[in-house]
Amino acid sequence: MHRLYEYGDIAVFWDSEKCRHAKMCVTGSPMTFEFGRRPWIDLTQAPTMEIWQTIDKCPTKALTCVYTHEVRIELDEDNNRSVAYTIDKESGNSGQQVGECDYKKTEDGWVIYHTEVSPDQEGKGIARRLVYKVTEAAERAGAKVIPVCSYAAKVLEH
Ligand code: SF4
Repeated sequence: MHRLYEYGDIAVFWDSEKCRHAKMCVTGSPMTFEFGRRPWIDLTQAPTMEIWQTIDKCPTKALTCVYTHEVRIELDEDNNRSVAYTIDKESGNSGQQVGECDYKKTEDGWVIYHTEVSPDQEGKGIARRLVYKVTEAAERAGAKVIPVCSYAAKVLEH
């Protein structure tokens, strides 16, 4: 299971298959990480620095995080893609598109075939967020994810 949690200036990735329940997360930031709660990760409950430092201690890298760099990720289900937009500072609305991850729905699952981020936005974890956004949606829909795109395959490998 892959989940993407985003709040304020932090995006958190969780890969359940890597989680070995060493519980560094629930002891490091107990208000943020609580097994049994839904969702079990709530980024509104603690300062970003506390969350970041706790995730840093996850021994299996089931939890990882990046700063959002004022880029928002949205799922555009009508067009089978997730999209990254800059955030307009004044209005808070989505601004310029700076990346997208495309998939098609097949009988076998959701095939991710293309992931791209604007060159000036590379190195910020945006592509990873895009892939996770699609993967999370597929898993919630009960569909298998088939990463044909080499970048998506790398993000999702175990
Ligand atoms: S610290 Fe990492 S491996 Fe341990 S329970 Fe939390 S998410 Fe899982």
